[in-house]
Amino acid sequence: MNNALEDVSNLRGSNAQAELTERFFRAASDGDVNAIRNTLSFFRSVSIDHRNDHGWTALMLAARNGHKEIVKFLLENGADPSLTTRTGQSVTDIGTFWNQKGVVDTLYKFLKPSSSRLEHVNYFGTNAANRQSYQRKDVQYIESLKTLGSTRYAVFAELELLISTNKSSKPSVLFLSYDQLNAVADKEYDVIYIGKGCLGKNSDDSGIEPDTIAYFAINYRHFPSEEGFPAKEFGGEFSGKGYATRMMMLPVEESGLVAQARSILAWHDRYRFCPTCGSKTKMAESGYKRSCLNSECRSHNGVHNTCFPRIDPVVIVLVVSPDGTKCLLGRQARFPPRMYSCLAGFMEPGESVEDAARREVHEESGVEVGRLEYHSSQPWPFPGQLMIGLVGYAVSEKITVDQEELEDAKWFTRSEVAEALAGGFTKDKGLLVPPKHAIAHQLQKAWVKMSANL
Ligand SMILES: [Zn+2]
Repeated sequence: MNNALEDVSNLRGSNAQAELTERFFRAASDGDVNAIRNTLSFFRSVSIDHRNDHGWTALMLAARNGHKEIVKFLLENGADPSLTTRTGQSVTDIGTFWNQKGVVDTLYKFLKPSSSRLEHVNYFGTNAANRQSYQRKDVQYIESLKTLGSTRYAVFAELELLISTNKSSKPSVLFLSYDQLNAVADKEYDVIYIGKGCLGKNSDDSGIEPDTIAYFAINYRHFPSEEGFPAKEFGGEFSGKGYATRMMMLPVEESGLVAQARSILAWHDRYRFCPTCGSKTKMAESGYKRSCLNSECRSHNGVHNTCFPRIDPVVIVLVVSPDGTKCLLGRQARFPPRMYSCLAGFMEPGESVEDAARREVHEESGVEVGRLEYHSSQPWPFPGQLMIGLVGYAVSEKITVDQEELEDAKWFTRSEVAEALAGGFTKDKGLLVPPKHAIAHQLQKAWVKMSANL
């Protein structure tokens, strides 16, 4: 290699540049990390995002040919993964199209942290595992993961979660191994693939590399008997009544996995028959599809939304008063005394997020909302909502409460909300607001911060 570089050093001007660029692309295609490193360090005018005659970058060539070490090296040295070919394909599209699984894994690992740093991530929204959606159709691969000694299962029975009962620590998911589950008598269950990750383990002390544990989730259709499922022997218990509250006490890094698992398992639990023809359906694609068993069924042709897991979008809005000094909160009769929250409602088909937000606020409180800003979203796995959190700016102030939806709605000052956010649930007087794991709490907090200088 050094000889080759010395050859280049004898070249002059544009010839040297062309030769080096040519070598740079060849090294990316062939998977030669040393050649890539040398070319870049030797001749700085070779841009890492330089395109060849076909509009491809070195990153794209390496992805096309499955060289994950090169992909990693180029990303770490500033290659831009958002560039696309002339036909609009990104490097991730290229890796996926050519079935370069190692490359796609590397890309996902690299892209995940860089995007989440800029965003507000709510509880249930942490993406702890790489979902590997591109692997779900590979039955052999998924089956081979199921029985590995390191593979872990989140366990549900009638959609209640198995939680660790270790008294010395806070509640957490009690993951079981394939062998432990084999000892369970009940064989009526659904199993879905979650993805690869490494929850609660540091690669330094466990010897396990991050993202090397495969996670699955299982739901037993009937609540098992003590003899059928030795929960206590495993060191846990099912979440029981008030399960939603207990699932909100888990470590944040487990919450996303639980949301993914519970929403999809709940869908399988309720969609055993085809909504199009009424025949039985079976699970497909590692749990992310159900197929009708009637070969004549219309659902086998064209685009249908009955074969894939449901997500039901809900808009949730923190409404700011026209002068910016107050926010609008409402309470439902089922809330604990003195608790008020942001206004929320299900979106309707054929409605934009903005229109749904304005409609819900107006219907419930009579207040007109103008401009809206997106804040963050939260998956809500009871059973499959997606909360879309917005800040809305009111253009009117008069409140007319819809008594069917709400018990009351009021404007609250910044100091009232700030006090409630700080005070928690032990506060004995004044306003109470939802706990921090709820997106409503985060919207209120965002507004208090936003208006701190008023
Ligand atoms: Zn059907």
